Amino acid sequence: MVGAEGVCLEMADGRKLVDGMSSWWAAIHGYNVPELNRAAENQLRSMSHVMFGGLTHAPAVELGKRLVEITPDGLDRVFLADSGSVSVEVAMKMAVQYQYARGERRRTKFLTFRGGYHGDTLGPMSVCDPETGMHGLFADFVPQHYFIDRPPAWEGGNLGLDMAYTGRLAEFVERHAGTTAAFICEPVVQGAGGMYFYHPGYLVFLREICDAHGILLIFDEIATGFGRSGELFAANHAAVVPDVLCIGKALTGGYLTLAATICTGKVAATIGASDLPNLMHGPTFMGNPLACAVAVASIDLLLASNWRKRVEMINHALTTALIHPPLHPPYGAKNERKDAWPPTGPTVSKGEAGSLVKEARVLGAIGVVETARPVDVAKMQAFFVERGVWIRPFGTRVYVMPPYVCTEAEVGKLCRAMLAACEQPELFAPAT
Ligand SMILES: *Cc1c(COP(=O)(O)O)cnc(C)c1O
Repeated sequence: MVGAEGVCLEMADGRKLVDGMSSWWAAIHGYNVPELNRAAENQLRSMSHVMFGGLTHAPAVELGKRLVEITPDGLDRVFLADSGSVSVEVAMKMAVQYQYARGERRRTKFLTFRGGYHGDTLGPMSVCDPETGMHGLFADFVPQHYFIDRPPAWEGGNLGLDMAYTGRLAEFVERHAGTTAAFICEPVVQGAGGMYFYHPGYLVFLREICDAHGILLIFDEIATGFGRSGELFAANHAAVVPDVLCIGKALTGGYLTLAATICTGKVAATIGASDLPNLMHGPTFMGNPLACAVAVASIDLLLASNWRKRVEMINHALTTALIHPPLHPPYGAKNERKDAWPPTGPTVSKGEAGSLVKEARVLGAIGVVETARPVDVAKMQAFFVERGVWIRPFGTRVYVMPPYVCTEAEVGKLCRAMLAACEQPELFAPAT
């Protein structure tokens, strides 16, 4: 790549690709964004970095204020971290310190759903899915925590919770409560662990059981934050406030690495009242002014951009192309469009027998095609580049989450490429 502008990535040979990945959920405004460029340039002229111990500065203060304002009510203490993984490390340490402060020194374990992804450093890795994560290779190195199946898939209009599942979830939390610091999960959308959607109602239930057992609830919204799921934060789908929230990825609009761990006043005050009153983490580049200035500009741009309408437009375009593609009857039994637009939940359609499309699902500005066989990543990527799009699938997931500034035609182009790829058996691993 030699350049990036708007929704396009520019290759060294001059070819331009419509970006379906937003550089892994980050570049929500696209590339070479005048407002973000200006924020970075202005900040660069005054101060690109100073240490954040004993000192503070306007970009960090402004960012903190905005984050407190836009995140769910009650989350009002902000810790700035260097990357998503570090923000999860900090959330986990925060939970252990919180329990320590309450005299609960045995509570050092974490509970989570299978199928999750929380980052690649040690703490986050230990709560990633134990099969698709790296537990095998690092078995003796990674701390052992407890896993339960993820909640049942959210399939469009299906609004009822599965009571057998909630029963097992309650039993699971209760069984481990005495040694558990926190439950950590990605609310509603599991990202890199499988591009999977589950009903927000399970989060309401989870909030209640965690409260009943003195367990903190940590939401990892590093992927879903800033509008991607159709709400500003995925927690808003359930109106559930976690004790700790992790954000990253789109925080700087994809310009610089920055993340945040945001907690309630209660968590901060409890830690602050203990014999170890400081949160035990202090990264060298904490609160980097350049990154903070760009993050402030990115949030302001997002809030001024009518993001909800844009996400709805992308949702409509993804649904039209993936759920009601011209090859399928538009109002078939499985994929009837019932509600007023936009839908409150995901739209889902099942592939036909023998097709390489097993299922397509859309939520917010996320479109996923689940395939019947694992893709050959290198071959499929080359196919996409030939067709002028940038899409990087993994396993049995071919998916897009384009920048919010893309047009309906650009979303259509991405979707046509996804479906065309699924008609080419040679782009998949051989059938077994
Ligand atoms: C990407 C991601 C992380 C890790 O963030 P990095 O910035 O790559 O360290 C953690 N959790 C979720 C849900 C993510 O999508």
